[in-house]
Amino acid sequence: MGKCEVIYLTTSQRNVYVYQVKITNIMSTPALFLDRDGVINVDHGYVCDVENFEFISGIFDLTRDAIKQGFLVLIITNQSGIGRGYYTEEKFLKLTDWMCAQFLKEEAPITKVYYSPYHPIAGKGKYLSDHRTRKPHPGMILDAQVEFSIDLGSSILIGDKASDIAAGNVAGVGLNLLFGSDETSGFTGLKYKRIDSLWDAKAIFTSSSTLMRYD
Ligand SMILES: [Mg+2]
Repeated sequence: MGKCEVIYLTTSQRNVYVYQVKITNIMSTPALFLDRDGVINVDHGYVCDVENFEFISGIFDLTRDAIKQGFLVLIITNQSGIGRGYYTEEKFLKLTDWMCAQFLKEEAPITKVYYSPYHPIAGKGKYLSDHRTRKPHPGMILDAQVEFSIDLGSSILIGDKASDIAAGNVAGVGLNLLFGSDETSGFTGLKYKRIDSLWDAKAIFTSSSTLMRYD
């Protein structure tokens, strides 16, 4: 629950209080949802070790800025490489620890990394699933909303695929940014704004007037 504060403005002659009630902190935390491969690091395909993890220019400035503006930074990443047997969950988590340490060094702490190891066709064993957490399904975003009381309407998502944008749209994320995608299909009916660099996304944070606009 939020904090409810009653502010008395004036007292009229008939002893009627005129006041306003200020409610704060109710579902008021916005988040910056980041896809991983193709947004945080160059997508070399099933990146699973430090040697292949190449940070994309502008990512630390962007996240530092977002945090300064009161956003939580949450990563939502499909990791079917686990389900396909290309690398283990332990290996992914080790790389994730290293990645989060780099963000911390840059004074841009990641609040949480959500990942979905499943695949509906190529997943092996327990990973064979069209799971609610695998984008385009919105499960990771909705789980984060519950865990951190995120205000999705004032949140921003950055992805490089139609499936990222679809998940953001279905979950009700206020602004969905498509970065560096060469995909041409799958976008019908989706609401998103295209950006050419992460510096463009940073500019959006510094100009609140453009925050919720797709034009
Ligand atoms: Mg991606």
